[in-house]
This record gives sequence, structure tokens and C-alpha cells, in this order.
Amino acid sequence: MFESIMRHMLLGIGKSPAAGRLAKRYGLKLGAARFVAGRTIEEAITAVQGLNAAGKLATLDHLGEYVAHAEDAAASAEMCIRTLDEIAASGVQSNLSLKLTSLGLDLEEGLCLGHMQRIVSHAGKTGNFVRIDMEDYAHCEPTLDLYRELRKTHDNVGVVIQAYLRRAPDDIRELGSLRANMRLVKGAYKEPETVAYPRKSDVDKQFLELIQLQLTQGYTAIATHDRSIIEASLAFIEEQRISKDCYEFQMLYGIGEDLQDALVRDGHRVRVYVPFGEDWFGYFMRRLAERPANVGFILKNMRRARGSR
Ligand SMILES: Cc1cc2nc3c(=O)[nH]c(=O)nc-3n(C[C@H](O)[C@H](O)[C@H](O)COP(=O)(O)OP(=O)(O)OC[C@H]3O[C@@H](n4cnc5c(N)ncnc54)[C@H](O)[C@@H]3O)c2cc1C
Repeated sequence: MFESIMRHMLLGIGKSPAAGRLAKRYGLKLGAARFVAGRTIEEAITAVQGLNAAGKLATLDHLGEYVAHAEDAAASAEMCIRTLDEIAASGVQSNLSLKLTSLGLDLEEGLCLGHMQRIVSHAGKTGNFVRIDMEDYAHCEPTLDLYRELRKTHDNVGVVIQAYLRRAPDDIRELGSLRANMRLVKGAYKEPETVAYPRKSDVDKQFLELIQLQLTQGYTAIATHDRSIIEASLAFIEEQRISKDCYEFQMLYGIGEDLQDALVRDGHRVRVYVPFGEDWFGYFMRRLAERPANVGFILKNMRRARGSR
């Protein structure tokens, strides 16, 4: 009960621009540095080089979401292009993840589609791939529509399905006809019971069913730190003799390193989601909401910061 209240509170604060501005003043000192690779692309590339040296792939995400002005959407698109250029120039093994609300999805779908066409085409020139993150429920349908539109002209783009959504099995089956490259996750936003399962046991059950379905129909990125889901997925992969080229495991920067290392040792493809940039507050709040125990280390960091003043 307490965890659920805390989770809702943290997700609510994460969407507040005022709280975000306040947090920026404290930089990444509050504890966000555990989950965010740095403020600049240079810091993020250094983090990716470290991951690559440990046998892991990456997906870089320049943080940002829910932009309210066309100029901000254009600036986000420029940063995506720059990130692709830096990946190519440095030779790191990384693709790109992004959120459509950072590219103006709330302003005008045509504007967002234009930015995406440019970004995905640019990625294609260096053989790279772009993953569209899935945001809150209000953006699910527009995101899938835009993804379908992009697939008419590009193959190097993938999408995300959230297992907590009641509609997820229908979406996966429908996208199967496009042979969509899908990342499957449990889901990180605050959603009403009418659209999302509130109980963890229901989400976990549907998550595994979706992973098994997608593994039989297209490329599958299994994005979780849940040991039992990973073990059950591996058992299914072995039983169905699914080739190692047809799936990958994905985890977030700063979480589950021991699991990542074990999967790499066993020869599985592992990709780490590496977020960077100034706009880290909403992302950070979602990480805290997933595990309210994390709030403990923020309090510790705040005490330490006060002590060093
Ligand atoms: C690569 C990647 C991309 C993602 N992209 C999206 C997306 O596009 N849209 C979306 O809605 N969600 C996304 N998510 C988040 C996802 O929906 C979950 O909220 C998140 O992965 C936590 O769920 P879990 O599967 O790890 O399982 P859980 O049952 O939540 O956690 C399992 C275990 O993992 C560890 N753990 C999980 N979260 C944390 C944390 N924050 N801090 C410390 N330990 C933790 C704990 O040990 C926990 O017991 C993404 C996740 C990953 C890994």
C-alpha cells in the first residue's frame, strides 16, 4: 500500500516542470548519476566505450520529453542526428532510443513524423537503428500509428510494447504482420486500471506470454532486470531452439550489472540503455518509482551534500 502511494507520488512529481527546474539546480548530485551517464554526449560515449569493452552493446538516449514548442522539438531532432554522428565517428557499438514527445508529438503529428523520417534516414546511412520508446497511454496509439507510417519506407526502426497494458497482446499480434523489431517491457508510467493491470502478478504473467509470442514472430528485445522472467525466457529460447541472432536482453544503465555480465558470459546479446543530457528529472523519477527503496539513497546523498557545504 505504502509502496503504491509512493510510486504514484514519484510519477506525479516526475511530470512537474517546476520540480524538474528545481532539481536541475542540484545537478546530478541527488543520486541521478547512478542512472544517467552524464550531461554531455562526450560523457555518454565514454560510458558506452566502457560497456563495449565489457562485451555489451548500448542504446543512447538524449533525455527529453513532452516538449511544448516547435523550436525545442527541432533542437531535440538535431541532438538525435548529432548523437548518430558521434556514434559513427567514435566507432562505438550503439544504436539510438528516443521519445516522440521530445520531437513534438503533442504539437503536431506531421512535424514529429518529419523529424523522425530525417533521423531514421540519417541512421540508415551508417547502418544504424532507431528505437521509439513507448510513453504514457495517451501517446500509445499515436506512437504506433507513426511507427506504421515510418515502416512504409524504413526497416531500421523499432518500437516498444508495455506488458502492463490490457491491449498489448492485440498490438503485438497486429505488429507481427510488419515483422516489427520489438522491445518488450513491463511499463513505467502511472495508468488507470481501465487500461493497465494494477497487480504485479498479472503484469509478470502477461509479460512472459508476450515475450514468448514475439520470440516466435520477430526480433525480440527482452528489456527487464527481473531474474525470473529472464530465466523463463531463456528456458523458452532453448526449448524452441531460437537462434541467438533473433533476440537480445536489454537493461538500464546502472541497474542489474551482475545479470548483464552473466548473460554476456553465456554468449547472449546484451544491450544497455544509456541516457544522458540535462533533462534527466522525469527519467530519474520513473527509476525511483520502480523501486521506492531507491529514495533512501537520495536522502543519503542530500545529507552528504549538506555536510560538505
Ligand atoms: C532497456 C529498457 C528500456 C525501457 N524502455 C521503456 C519504455 O520505452 N517505456 C516504458 O514504459 N518502460 C520502459 N522501460 C522500463 C520498464 O517498463 C520497467 O519499468 C523497468 O524495466 C522495471 O521493470 P523490470 O522489468 O526490471 O521488473 P521489476 O519487477 O520492476 O524489477 C525486477 C528487479 O529489477 C531491479 N530493479 C528494477 N527497477 C529498478 C530500479 N529502478 N532501481 C534499482 N533496481 C531496479 C530490482 O532488483 C527488482 O527487484 C525500459 C526498461 C528497460 C530495461
